[in-house]
Amino acid sequence: MSRFRQEIEILEPYVPGEQPAAGDVVVKLNTNENAFPPSPRVRQALQAIDVNQLRRYPQPFADEFRAATAEVLGVDSSWILPGNGSDDLLTQLFRAVTGPGRRVTYPIPTYVLYRTLANIQGCAATEVPYDDTYALPTTQLTDADAALTIIANPNSPSGTAVSIDDLRVLAGRVNGVLAVDEAYVEFANESALDLVREHDHVIVLRTLSKSHGLAGLRLGFAIAQPSLLKGLAKVKDSYNVDAIAAHLGAVAIRDIDYTREVTERIVAARSNLIGALEGLGFYVWPSQANFILVRPTHCSAKHLHKALKSRNVFVRYFNEPRLANTLRITVGTDEENHALMETLKELHR
Ligand code: PMP
Repeated sequence: MSRFRQEIEILEPYVPGEQPAAGDVVVKLNTNENAFPPSPRVRQALQAIDVNQLRRYPQPFADEFRAATAEVLGVDSSWILPGNGSDDLLTQLFRAVTGPGRRVTYPIPTYVLYRTLANIQGCAATEVPYDDTYALPTTQLTDADAALTIIANPNSPSGTAVSIDDLRVLAGRVNGVLAVDEAYVEFANESALDLVREHDHVIVLRTLSKSHGLAGLRLGFAIAQPSLLKGLAKVKDSYNVDAIAAHLGAVAIRDIDYTREVTERIVAARSNLIGALEGLGFYVWPSQANFILVRPTHCSAKHLHKALKSRNVFVRYFNEPRLANTLRITVGTDEENHALMETLKELHR
């Protein structure tokens, strides 16, 4: 007999993007981290931490961070549930809502972790293909009649976003929980937050990994009405957000001006990068994230990924049929984007 449940025995584990070894100098445009450092206030707060406080367990609901986030978003703190990155909140969501006989549905291609979590839960997943424009397939999603419908908006790896009006129509039609994963929302034009006010079955997930440059801190949060968050809180680890993350996260989320400045710079760099790539003949999907999906026209994506890597430029290649001829490129600093373009031009010759 296997040591593991059947679901785990056959599970293909989620493979995160490659992280270079410490000290390696690479142009790292493969995992959608922020091109800029976190707010300088985070550094000050980190230096001021009294290590002796770490003797104590943290508050189970990261109260300081929860209160700061509620204030910044203008909602009651009972509408916020902090987590150890939004991956943690996704895990809680799948644990609480799905299982054998309780289906999940989502459009693909999207964040691959959804499939992994569905497989762990042993729940059926209805994966609805996006068309090439990445329009929301509302009818097929609704027809799946799932316990959980999940939409990454903006989507990864396409970078495309659907309108909140489209999501509002979907919210009005689904019976189960509708989760909108807004990991990249600060780089986008609009947010689904209003839908949380309008519906008690809608939950929005956010993270400080991208817009706040804190992927290493592991901090995210869910926004929903308390009746929905109650279910997630039941399945979470007791101390899923550590005391340092709760404190630094509160400092970071309050520094609204810094976040705006950094995200505006990335959005401007994104549009320059799109122009430059189109100039080299790439097809580029319209992006509302801090990365772009491109299709090379003069050689295969797989080949280009390898050639870039050998020149220390990391971009993301997904080894699956729908994405076989695409690359996902994180928008870096002007210097990083320039280095990418120079390398591409060199390879193009
Ligand atoms: N959702 C999406 C769509 C993502 O791309 C990512 C990043 N891999 C996450 C959630 C998870 O982000 P984190 O756990 O760092 O908050």
